[in-house]
Amino acid sequence: MNAELRFDPIRLPAECEALRQEVRAFLAQEIAAGTFDPDRPGHGDSHDPAFSRRVGAKGWIGMTWPKKYGGRERSFLERYVVTEEFRVANAPVRLYFVADRQSGPILLKYAPEHVKMDILPRICRGELCFVIGMSEPNSGSDLFAAKAKATKTDGGWKLKGTKIWTSNAHIADYMLGLFRTSAPTKENRRHGLTQFLVDMKTPGITVNPIYQMTGQHDFNEVVFDDAFVPDDHLLGEVDGAWKQATSELAYERSGPERFLETFYVLIELIRALGEQPDVRSAEGLGRLVAQAHTLRRMSVSVAGMLQAGKEPVVEGSLVKDLGTIWEQKLPGRVRELAAFLAPETSNRATLEEQLAFATKVAPKLTIQGGTTEILRGIIARGLGLR
Ligand SMILES: Cc1cc2nc3c(=O)[nH]c(=O)nc-3n(C[C@H](O)[C@H](O)[C@H](O)COP(=O)(O)OP(=O)(O)OC[C@H]3O[C@@H](n4cnc5c(N)ncnc54)[C@H](O)[C@@H]3O)c2cc1C
Repeated sequence: MNAELRFDPIRLPAECEALRQEVRAFLAQEIAAGTFDPDRPGHGDSHDPAFSRRVGAKGWIGMTWPKKYGGRERSFLERYVVTEEFRVANAPVRLYFVADRQSGPILLKYAPEHVKMDILPRICRGELCFVIGMSEPNSGSDLFAAKAKATKTDGGWKLKGTKIWTSNAHIADYMLGLFRTSAPTKENRRHGLTQFLVDMKTPGITVNPIYQMTGQHDFNEVVFDDAFVPDDHLLGEVDGAWKQATSELAYERSGPERFLETFYVLIELIRALGEQPDVRSAEGLGRLVAQAHTLRRMSVSVAGMLQAGKEPVVEGSLVKDLGTIWEQKLPGRVRELAAFLAPETSNRATLEEQLAFATKVAPKLTIQGGTTEILRGIIARGLGLR
């Protein structure tokens, strides 16, 4: 057994609660101004350049990063609070969120200084959208089977091949992409991949849309046909990107966004049941709220580990596994609890509309960011079971 696997019970410090009030006031102002409707997720455009810049001006993008790169040197626990409030409000974070969560931290660790000085402040100002270029048509779960190639040329590298399921590629400025620079070795099948910072406006890159079941255009196929990246956009070690990609996943998998994607249906149900729910509904609600609370405690605990400079890959995988299963089942559970609502319940139509949307969103939740089976493999390995 791995004795290191633990979730310390972390309490959010007082400065986090002050920040929470500030974030809520900002979001209330944005809602009042009509920027987005918190009760209608999926109805507005969740990529909003002007909103992103206002969030950047508040100092809430890249907020844990060094000041010299535009960050605010605040804690991961403070970042947790901002993420949580924005997610619960269904605010349009799509444009900057990947950069804030994972691309920025990777650049901080592996990019040359002049690239960091150029790009990180622009992320903090809410000006840049980043995407994750990992999955390929025959390489999703098995990330290390990636075939899209980077070949050395004068002053840089030429990229050829196809990435798929690339969220937001149609609106992106940059991709952090994983490309094959040599064959895997007998000893290490993960060897041979290199990570690059790719400017999405480079000639030779074509972005083809793929539509969700909800009708939304979230992700894409991205085709590289000898697209050039300069040498200084190579990140970290040639052939050694598997180490970088693994630590990136700790950031990707553990945040509150991993269990709050359908949370709005629970809020709407609480509104519908009112102050005096019957015993059956109260019991059902109590169970869901207790589960959400537990997930939150686990996720806060992982934020505490990131703050302590750890790489909680296994703990992050546990949060993602439990969190996505919970948020995936939530619409069905809410539908059951709403079955006996009086026909005249005032927000019934809103709840029905939300349930219809959440039910169509739910299947993707246990696939994005690593499937349930893959996460369980990681967890089993972390526990010393395989
Ligand atoms: C909404 C959404 C957004 C996404 N955004 C991005 C993005 O921005 N960038 C990006 O790079 N990717 C993205 N992805 C891709 C996602 O990471 C992959 O879809 C995921 O890793 C699964 O890969 P796959 O689709 O190739 O399925 P496969 O790997 O073919 O898996 C198919 C099934 O087999 C199971 N399976 C596979 N291998 C094993 C094994 N060893 N043991 C047990 N079971 C196994 C899987 O769990 C799954 O159920 C996104 C996906 C979704 C749904």
